[in-house]
Amino acid sequence: MLSKQFIQQIIRPESPSTTHHECRHCGYSVEKDVDECPQCGSHEIAAYDLE
Ligand SMILES: [Zn+2]
Repeated sequence: MLSKQFIQQIIRPESPSTTHHECRHCGYSVEKDVDECPQCGSHEIAAYDLE
């Protein structure tokens, strides 16, 4: 039977360390839902999968 903890792990957002988001223009690290760099305003956000 599934424990409550197991279910919470499934619905929980992925850990911030799984994917790294970084501005391609200036290299600034941004949150995963950000599509505009707060540092330089660029929309070129690169996502690096660290899995
Ligand atoms: Zn930038």
